[in-house]
Amino acid sequence: MRRFAEVAEAIGATSSKLEKVRLLGDYLAALDEQRLPVATRFFAGRVFPPSDPRVLQVGGAALSAVLRELGGVDNEDLSSIWRKYADSGETTQEVFRRAGRTTSSDTDILDVVAAFDEIASISGARARTRAVSDLLARCDPLEAKYVTKLMAGDMRIGLREGLVEEAIGAAFSRPRAAVERANMVTGDLGEVALLALHDELESAQPRLFSPLRFMLASPVADAAEVIARLGAEVWVEDKYDGIRCQLHRDEHRVALFSRDLNDVTQQFPEVAGAARELPGSLLLDGELLAFRDGRVRSFFELQTRLGRKSPPQSVIDAVPVIFTAWDILYQDGESLLDHPLRERRHRLDDLHLGGRFATAHQERASGVEQLEQLFIDARERHNEGLLAKDPDSAYTPGRRGLAWLKLKKPLDTLDVVVVGAEWGHGKRRDVLSDVTFAVRVDDSDELVPIGKAYSGLTDAEIDTMTKMLLDRTLQDRGHYRSVVPDIVLEVAFDSVQPSTRHRSGYALRFPRIVNWRHDKPASEIDTLSRVRQIAESLIEEREQLVDRAGNPTAEPAG
Ligand code: AMP
Repeated sequence: MRRFAEVAEAIGATSSKLEKVRLLGDYLAALDEQRLPVATRFFAGRVFPPSDPRVLQVGGAALSAVLRELGGVDNEDLSSIWRKYADSGETTQEVFRRAGRTTSSDTDILDVVAAFDEIASISGARARTRAVSDLLARCDPLEAKYVTKLMAGDMRIGLREGLVEEAIGAAFSRPRAAVERANMVTGDLGEVALLALHDELESAQPRLFSPLRFMLASPVADAAEVIARLGAEVWVEDKYDGIRCQLHRDEHRVALFSRDLNDVTQQFPEVAGAARELPGSLLLDGELLAFRDGRVRSFFELQTRLGRKSPPQSVIDAVPVIFTAWDILYQDGESLLDHPLRERRHRLDDLHLGGRFATAHQERASGVEQLEQLFIDARERHNEGLLAKDPDSAYTPGRRGLAWLKLKKPLDTLDVVVVGAEWGHGKRRDVLSDVTFAVRVDDSDELVPIGKAYSGLTDAEIDTMTKMLLDRTLQDRGHYRSVVPDIVLEVAFDSVQPSTRHRSGYALRFPRIVNWRHDKPASEIDTLSRVRQIAESLIEEREQLVDRAGNPTAEPAG
């Protein structure tokens, strides 16, 4: 574990991506078959393979108890150290240093894995805390820092998944594209590293109960752009507003995975139960939707089902959920990823899904006008818009390609990340209700603020978010605090225009929070170029208005 921690520390200390890849590549190349998958997974911030439903369940309270015991600190010391670093690993390291716990018992990385196995198997909180304490007691400050970071599921050493892929390629002299494809198909960098070691990357195939990256859609401005990109024959499906979900089943097991590849089977027992009745072994892609009295309900209703590990029957009865499928990726031992959508849809239709399952509403369109009508029809069915798909396309896991295009109502919403917060006013003066949010600069990690929102969340959500924002505070300037950017929100707005008020160079008009996107990582929020695209299309629209009116007095938005 010492070597792992040293390499992680060195990777965190350099900002050079090349250097990060070199350090990790050299380290991975020297590992044996047993340690390679584990260490690679650890560097990807994962304790268990994605197909493994176990979780450690070591929260802040357990860690605080362990640090008080091993480091002899009290709550006050602990919170002042925490405020200084806002990172559980750094906090642990500092507590260990102060307590002079500097000897390591040369714990092997496989011993750490064994300890994690044990921790995950314990159901009582006290016994679990004991096991965490036993593990950390064997570590020196640096090892303890990384063991803690692993338990928290967040390495924060500036090592994006793409860099881990590059390092695997570099370690075993394999092409980057082969590593990337194997990762998309298996979703497990540990397994990919092993395949790379044995020169078997090409053989990677989706496997049941190992979640696959989801294929994503690219946004388009209007129906004309869809036709221009996809040509004469376009397949369109309604764009449902629920929770993306992958269903895996065979005669022994059923698993549901969320967009961030977490196992959510327990959260939707009625869907998992019904999936036992489906035929054969299957991997379906689709959306979980709230469905009551014969009608799909809003995302707002579905939200009451989020974040509950195993909902009580009363909640299941109040907000029943169905799975609407639009793709089939694997059936009875055969991968369908490379088969055209045409054929996949055919197979999906042949399943004749019913009951708790439905098949996405689908139509064919051959021109702009027809597509616009279908868009209106989808909105009338209370869906967000349309997903246009190329019938000849393969399923490309993890890619936001041009084979799937999403058409939402223009000037609809942006997915943004919270970068700062302020205390509210009046009855909200004790909560961090005013948040500053940012979009991402394309192809980089840079975040640029674009607006502030005050409304849209319920009081309970504001309370939860306040706690999270306090935990994530990077710098507290009294009035305004900057926070770790990982809370993703969907904000609706009426217009967007150039402005010097925010660093993005744009300001939104009437931004309001419409969803808390628990399912979306900050790396996938909307980009500055999408904002620019919306702003430019607005300007064009306004110019058209001016032209049509014959005079330049049309009200500029905002
Ligand atoms: P967005 O969340 O705005 O990036 O839009 C992409 C999301 O739309 C996907 O992740 C799905 O959850 C959702 N979606 C809804 N309907 C469909 C559909 N028919 N095909 C693919 N994705 C869909």
